[in-house]
Amino acid sequence: MTPNTWPIRPADINLSAFLAELKNWVAIESPTADRDAVNAMVDHAAAYARALGLSVSRHMTDARTGDLLIARQGPEQEAERVLILTHLDTVHAKGTLAGPLPWREEEDRLFGPGVYDMKCGALMAVEALRLAGDRAAATIMFVPDEETGTRATRAAIEVAALKARAVLVMEPAREGGKIVTGRRGSANYRIEVHGRAAHSGTRPQDGRSAIRAAAKLVLELEAMNDPARGIGVNVGVIQGGTTRNTVPALCVLDVDVRLPDLAAQHEVITALEALRPTDADIRFEISGTVTRPAFGVDPGSSALLETARPIADAMGYPLVTMTSGGGSDGNFTAALGIPTLDGLGPDGADAHTFNEHLLVPSIPPRLAMLANLLIALNAAHQ
Ligand SMILES: [Zn+2]
Repeated sequence: MTPNTWPIRPADINLSAFLAELKNWVAIESPTADRDAVNAMVDHAAAYARALGLSVSRHMTDARTGDLLIARQGPEQEAERVLILTHLDTVHAKGTLAGPLPWREEEDRLFGPGVYDMKCGALMAVEALRLAGDRAAATIMFVPDEETGTRATRAAIEVAALKARAVLVMEPAREGGKIVTGRRGSANYRIEVHGRAAHSGTRPQDGRSAIRAAAKLVLELEAMNDPARGIGVNVGVIQGGTTRNTVPALCVLDVDVRLPDLAAQHEVITALEALRPTDADIRFEISGTVTRPAFGVDPGSSALLETARPIADAMGYPLVTMTSGGGSDGNFTAALGIPTLDGLGPDGADAHTFNEHLLVPSIPPRLAMLANLLIALNAAHQ
């Protein structure tokens, strides 16, 4: 195929129908921790994919997590060669849609909880298979727990990735439509600071304030940040104390760690796990682990990128790459050495905030690119 003969053009996409269906997906709020809410989204996506002729299977995960949905187009052995990763959970609590982040269009921008990260990308995956029709076989995995680290479905993703020759991740594009060819790794830690409770008015000398010790610890943790090297340490949640007039016995910190490479991973994790209180009456309980290893560009992913690049050019947008600070399920597949392209979803901004939005004009060229890429990969694997 020469660049001008890619079968799917951006003008082929029925954007108003796409947006109408996207509104249905966003209307089903699906915070990761709410299993029933995520499963309601799984119900809808399964029915939608089935109606388009995909073969759909649904797999229980664990008692806390929504189901893993898998949709296939084409014969199973062919479909296994191209794995498309999406997730149906969002970071937004139920009520966000009726509250701080209603569905709304403002000029080119479309707002809503999860609209950008990543219900649009998930719907694009299904629609790309519809556009490609019998010219492309692929498997879409709709992950229910990506936003909390993919604990319940990581193994299933890795098993599927090992059968694949290419993994396409529908996470949103970054900073002006860039796709992602490398990602930092991440680790999640919880540190419980244990002190000793006492009445703050009558027996303050008996108390050992966990909040005071935690405050000092927060500064030590934040001092590990090294933006020049790409090391990020964020104390994102802090909870402690019981009543105003009690010396607090407990304070809990939830810490997010971002790691540019394995050397930094070893260094930061070792330092974090070695943190000790200076007061003998204070105790730290540190628990956590690396949830996603860092990944960089390898020859397989570079080759996949060079397959996609001329298609994107023909669709009217340049394929610009970057290393993202955020982790995704692409970290797992790239770490296994499977060629992985990430950030193939819509352009937009402000994921995980009440200003989350996508840029509507980015949908047709990127959706057409994806459909053509699936066709090209299918042809290359014949
Ligand atoms: Zn996401």
